[in-house]
Amino acid sequence: MARVFNFSAGPAMLPEPVLKKAAEEMLDYKGSGMSVMEMSHRSKPFEEIINGAEATLREIMGIPDTYYVLFLQGGASMQFAMVPLNLFKNSKKADFVNTGTWSKKAISEAKKYGTANVVASSEDKKFAEIPVLDPAKFSKDADFFHITTNNTIEGTTIRELPDTGAVPLVADMSSNILGEQYDVAKFGLIYAGAQKNIGPAGVTVVIIKKDLVGSALPITPTMLDYKIHAENGSLYNTPPCYAIYISKLVFEWIKAEGGVKAIEARNKEKAAMLYNAIDNSKLYKAPVANPKFRSIMNVPFALPTEALDEKFLAEAKKLGLTTLKGHRSVGGCRASIYNAMPVEGVKKLVEFMKNFEINNKV
Ligand SMILES: *Cc1c(COP(=O)(O)O)cnc(C)c1O
Repeated sequence: MARVFNFSAGPAMLPEPVLKKAAEEMLDYKGSGMSVMEMSHRSKPFEEIINGAEATLREIMGIPDTYYVLFLQGGASMQFAMVPLNLFKNSKKADFVNTGTWSKKAISEAKKYGTANVVASSEDKKFAEIPVLDPAKFSKDADFFHITTNNTIEGTTIRELPDTGAVPLVADMSSNILGEQYDVAKFGLIYAGAQKNIGPAGVTVVIIKKDLVGSALPITPTMLDYKIHAENGSLYNTPPCYAIYISKLVFEWIKAEGGVKAIEARNKEKAAMLYNAIDNSKLYKAPVANPKFRSIMNVPFALPTEALDEKFLAEAKKLGLTTLKGHRSVGGCRASIYNAMPVEGVKKLVEFMKNFEINNKV
């Protein structure tokens, strides 16, 4: 068996100890005589799994009791609709910061149910930076203020959270949740599709302040009403049981590794190695030039020609460094180095990049 270093942006690598534990428990979960995949979501063992997942997530993120933790389906993309459907209760207006592909999708979905006011955008800079936020442009009467904390495709991160006062701050944290520390109390709602930094695709984590639940628009389908899921402990209907189980193992792994603080330190170390290699080379160029905006999760870079990109990707793959192709909308290369990517993986990539440059002088 040869496992590769998989730099995929999502679904992404999972920690090896988690996969091993899942393999051990595959046929007979803790003496139940069945796999978690075959188990009723109303059974005692599954109840322990979902409660354990929530408890450990609360612990590692420091989630206050004044928030619900929900395990939903539909991906982050469904939250683009679910957030406005549930939070548009007064002005039916929300402020958005447009920092990339995913922000744009959130904006266009919100427009179906109310007003999406873009307070700042870096689209004219090809999203290679985070725009300056001018609080004077914020809507005092907005029902929420939406940001994408980490822009997976463009490789940027919002480091300074906007002060939105009484307006609830909503964050799409799909690609950096649990990768860096956040004070949950600063947010009204955090959502994240699991397949980057949490677990397998199929489950979406929503952390929502309790007082934001219960005022969904009348047209809201039952399944898209946070209240229904909150009142039923994410068990209104059959949840993505196996994905929740693996997520629980990932949360336990993070705790055992020293928590999000220790993971963040390691992530910063990995990112610094990679950005140093790019900045000290003549062959590779990072589209995000300003270190202040650079993501520590997704590192896009490009070689001088598409032909060289292709050659680079093909040779990397032969060494077990896979899925380094940039998103189809931007091209080039991208190394996604989420929590489960070991330091050795990044070291091996950096070493390969150096050798490739020596052999491909431009
Ligand atoms: C991947 C991603 C999404 C889309 O997630 P799905 O679970 O596929 O819907 C949305 N936002 C961000 C920031 C992402 O990285």
